[in-house]
Amino acid sequence: MRFMTVRAVSIMASLFVGALPSELFAWHDRTHLAIAEAAGFDLWYSAAAPDVAKSKVQFTAIESPNHYYNNEAGRKVDASMVLDQVERYNRPGDQEGHLYGAIIGSVKAFRTLRKTGKYARYPLVFCAHYIGDISIPLHNTPYYEFNRARHSINDGVIDGGVRDSVASIRQRMRPIVIRNEEDFALEIARVAESGRELGLKMRSENRDMTPGEAYIQVIRSASLLKAVLAYAEHPPEEGQATSSKP
Ligand SMILES: [Zn+2]
Repeated sequence: MRFMTVRAVSIMASLFVGALPSELFAWHDRTHLAIAEAAGFDLWYSAAAPDVAKSKVQFTAIESPNHYYNNEAGRKVDASMVLDQVERYNRPGDQEGHLYGAIIGSVKAFRTLRKTGKYARYPLVFCAHYIGDISIPLHNTPYYEFNRARHSINDGVIDGGVRDSVASIRQRMRPIVIRNEEDFALEIARVAESGRELGLKMRSENRDMTPGEAYIQVIRSASLLKAVLAYAEHPPEEGQATSSKP
């Protein structure tokens, strides 16, 4: 699917009005890996796996809506929009999508699984992937014609060279501290809104993302992922009071 022409993708999209060709929804694999590696995630090499999982038709309905939010109302993304989506994590067939809630939902799944004493890190692989997806402009805007026609090309805009740029992504990351779920929702909203604004700009200028714009988005995702991993591992409510930290 990735190698189809834009025209072929448009034709396919028009054949499935309202359907969601799931293969189109994500940075391409190497970009996801670069984000996760720059953030210091130990399982960075699995960060594209959620797209592999959702490509299996039995899993598409449940997994695909975790990867985007079609903001058809054109609302500015804020913390309350993020929190409203948490309950929808893994809800099958939610055509609007619930990417923002999936990020918090996957951290909750990690914490729940960890308490059982079983191997618990796979929910963080999903989390790392979703945090990659939220910086993509066309994952934050309605899936109308502009989005359909340009989706795949924009997902791959820096994929060719991004694995050589992990160190420079890391150098340009900004420090984020997440102390509680409100902070978590706010930081998700910031990255998502940056993507949505860029998506609207691309549409009004009828163009693709530039590589420079794509790197800025990727750096936003990597910065957020680093903070979320620290928060997921050491949540303050489990006795790690932030005020006692150096
Ligand atoms: Zn994805």
